[in-house]
Amino acid sequence: MSGLDARRVASTVFRCRGAGEWSSREQIYGRIVGPKQETIDRVLLTWFPGPASFTGEDTVEIACHGGVIVTGKVVDLLVDSGAVPAAPGEFSQRAFFNGKIDLTQAEAIMDLITARTGLAARAAQEQLGGSLGTQIEALKGAAIGLLAHVEAYIDFPDEDIDPDSTDGMATKLASMVSSVESLLATADQGRILREGLHTVICGAPNAGKSSLLNLLLGFDRAIVNESAGTTRDTIEEVVNLKGLPLRLVDTAGLRDGGGEIEREGIDRSKRQIDLAELIILVIDGNEPRGLIEGIELPEGRRVVRIFNKSDLPEHPDWASESGLRTSCLAVESAEAVSQFIYREVTDGGGIDTANLVSINARHQHCLSKALDYLRQARSNLMDGISPEYVAMDLRGALDAIGEIVGKTDVEEILGEIFSSFCIGK
Ligand code: GDP
Repeated sequence: MSGLDARRVASTVFRCRGAGEWSSREQIYGRIVGPKQETIDRVLLTWFPGPASFTGEDTVEIACHGGVIVTGKVVDLLVDSGAVPAAPGEFSQRAFFNGKIDLTQAEAIMDLITARTGLAARAAQEQLGGSLGTQIEALKGAAIGLLAHVEAYIDFPDEDIDPDSTDGMATKLASMVSSVESLLATADQGRILREGLHTVICGAPNAGKSSLLNLLLGFDRAIVNESAGTTRDTIEEVVNLKGLPLRLVDTAGLRDGGGEIEREGIDRSKRQIDLAELIILVIDGNEPRGLIEGIELPEGRRVVRIFNKSDLPEHPDWASESGLRTSCLAVESAEAVSQFIYREVTDGGGIDTANLVSINARHQHCLSKALDYLRQARSNLMDGISPEYVAMDLRGALDAIGEIVGKTDVEEILGEIFSSFCIGK
């Protein structure tokens, strides 16, 4: 519970030894009691007087036994005593409003909760620690510095304010532009860590696509069948590939013909392939090239080629082709396959594990706006256009940058961010 009344409400249902003096930030053992003083649960209570708490307000945390009945009962008792159930994201929202965290940190809490791999969690943890917020604050500081200078120059033309030469300002603007560009370049990594790399497994019927999916997942999720064309639907799973979340879609075998349902599945496969960022092409190494000739892969995608069924003799058509030779039926191939795909993806600039600071779609939108303003400011400055215009551009950039950490006037976006929290956290 967070808020001015938290301690009073907790006192009505919490009983412990001693005079009821709660030392701050220490766990106190005691009981939660019902209306007839009956014991509901034995718990540990921690009292965090504000402002040194997560929300910045007086906070009481009660650690009770798990399960639905006991926790529900404790919450009911607190509500009966005057507490109000938290709305989604309300704790983080209060922490934000009380200046304990910025918006990038609030978002990181959600990223941490929804992280699907250790690497994604580490990235969220870094953002929660303020890694992104610090960079944004530095950009804000630079924008404020420049803006202050230009405005002083406009407002006090007689004060002989050093115009900081056009060159000096242009250099500062160029450095801001390059910082914003570097942050924007992390959008891909951010999306991959948060949502997973959209990956499609494709290949001729019976090449071993479902077997590969099962191998990566470690259990039989897709149905492997001996008759061609059985994988009619697309199946989506997230695979943790050495920290990299792959959103894997196993598609119906790409081939012409088949029944109506199968054709529908094939159309869907083609749509998935068009959307894919990574394509894993499974080839039956035992069969001639003719089988995959009809498969058209869109340009500019990362393609990883797996020659499956290496337990059988390889067809001479593949002698000079590169790719991983493996057998997806053998469990021990999993490591080599994961390693191979990981290398192909990261060598292609997929993820920089040394620098996990990466922006999300909202940050990307704000930074793109800021970039336009900064470039405009620079070109207006160089063209000798009236400083009022440069000031307007800088203000635009400042607002866009400020929106990322939430310290300018951004009321309308706050509701949207905090409402995406699925729990009271
Ligand atoms: P898909 O149609 O591409 O999804 O292919 P499946 O994964 O369903 O596999 C088709 C058939 O090939 C099944 O009978 C599998 O048991 C078999 N198969 C898959 N991988 C291998 C392999 O490495 N070696 C051999 N010999 N057979 C395999």
